Amino acid sequence: MVTRRKLLKTLSMLPIAGSLLGTEWLHGQSTHTEILKTISSRNFFKELGIRTFINAAGTYTSMTGSLMPKEVTAAITYGASEYVNLDELHDKVGARIAQLLECDYATVTSGAFGAMTIGLAGVISGMDKDKVAQLPDTTGLKNEVILQESHNIVYTHALKNVGVKLITVKTAAELKKAITKKTAMLWFLHANTDEGLIKHEEFVQIGKTYGIPTFIDCAADVPPVENLFKFTKMGFDLVAFSGGKGLRGPQSAGLLIGNKELIMAARQHTPPRGHTIGRGMKVNKEEVLGMLVALEMYLQKDHEKEWQMWESQIKLISDSALSVEGVNTEIHIPKYANHVPSLKVRWDQDIVKITPNEARKKLRDGHPSIETVGNDSEIGITTWMMEPGQERLVALRLKEVLSNV
Ligand SMILES: *Cc1c(COP(=O)(O)O)cnc(C)c1O
Repeated sequence: MVTRRKLLKTLSMLPIAGSLLGTEWLHGQSTHTEILKTISSRNFFKELGIRTFINAAGTYTSMTGSLMPKEVTAAITYGASEYVNLDELHDKVGARIAQLLECDYATVTSGAFGAMTIGLAGVISGMDKDKVAQLPDTTGLKNEVILQESHNIVYTHALKNVGVKLITVKTAAELKKAITKKTAMLWFLHANTDEGLIKHEEFVQIGKTYGIPTFIDCAADVPPVENLFKFTKMGFDLVAFSGGKGLRGPQSAGLLIGNKELIMAARQHTPPRGHTIGRGMKVNKEEVLGMLVALEMYLQKDHEKEWQMWESQIKLISDSALSVEGVNTEIHIPKYANHVPSLKVRWDQDIVKITPNEARKKLRDGHPSIETVGNDSEIGITTWMMEPGQERLVALRLKEVLSNV
């Protein structure tokens, strides 16, 4: 437990504390400070000369993703204090996660990206040790993955890492025509559902008809919580989620869930085995336990209440921005991926004489530092990665910056 005096001392070390702080913000921030203080009196980021910030942007790898609840960091600390057999741990946690998510099997991966690489590698190799060792050389093996052209984003590099060729198609007819004896897997990107002509059910059906495994990337698709169950039930053989986005587990972890045979094959590519393409995608006990606890906590959460909180936070920030003449806002919810209440702030630059990128820089450089997303025409804000209470500071700072205070 941190004493009040110690806490006040910590806060007084923050630049321009006091005057800006409401007590709710204090509660949110104190949890984090408290844990840090318990573990060590060192302020590592300050020591390194690195500024921390309020994350009003979202789950970005460049911003280190999400913050883990203290139950998750406690599980990580617990894991760091004992030895266990790595495969046994993965076996047991995989079974536990499968039970929680009502699916065949699961494994904790090195992010959604790692899930894609080992998932595909397993599809190609099966349990054959020689094939496992052969990858990424795919000579004589199935070595093509078919996906929709509009789904071909940067992360498909995780598939290319296995040594396959990506075949892109637009229509279901083209997809069926592209299937050959070389086809290893069909890959779907949930985030770009609307950009593609082939929807989930039809995609899964084609996979089943031709006997080819289907994989869906749902990295940023929690919330909603239902997505953790929906796609395995729909018939996708493999489903990947990021561990450190909406699930708030370790940022370098993820989940691969679905068909047990395929996941066991995927595991052949991971440590402790070393003659594999996945050796560098190690997931040790700390992250395995952290991921499990993050998932348990996420499933137990009152999702409706959390949603209402996000809505009221976004409204608060929106109202604050709207109190400045010339500013308009739009509250929206992305249909797929990052499906949370989000805010766009735009303004008439003849009245508010600052560009959105300049305003974002002011928010970043101010006290406290606030990260947003945006471009030359707008600022984008979400509150799901904030600590409760920080929305007040964001509302206040946004108004100040737009009023040119
Ligand atoms: C974030 C993301 C990934 C990568 O996930 P990691 O968990 O960071 O490995 C892959 N695909 C999509 C669509 C993503 O949004």
